[in-house]
Amino acid sequence: MVSSSAPTLGQVLSLSIECADCGRNRWRKTQELYRIKGIHSGTQLSEIGSRLVCSSCVDDGLPGKNIVIQAAFSFEEDRLRADAWRVSNLAARAAG
Ligand SMILES: [Zn+2]
Repeated sequence: MVSSSAPTLGQVLSLSIECADCGRNRWRKTQELYRIKGIHSGTQLSEIGSRLVCSSCVDDGLPGKNIVIQAAFSFEEDRLRADAWRVSNLAARAAG
């Protein structure tokens, strides 16, 4: 079973940051994300999306808060865990 310990940014090599509203997608290395206030190696992946906005949507006067994160992990085992996390995260979005 997957434990309750959520994956954190410190386990991740890079992140795919996608805007579900406009479809804009970028890969970011974790070091780049550490420059953002409130984001560090202990930040859970589930928290990161809420700390980011889509600048393209903001320029159009939209909130730009519908961000989907996908992680590239350093180990195969963690990658599998990431897939499981992504599914549960999307399920949570659908419910909420
Ligand atoms: Zn957008």
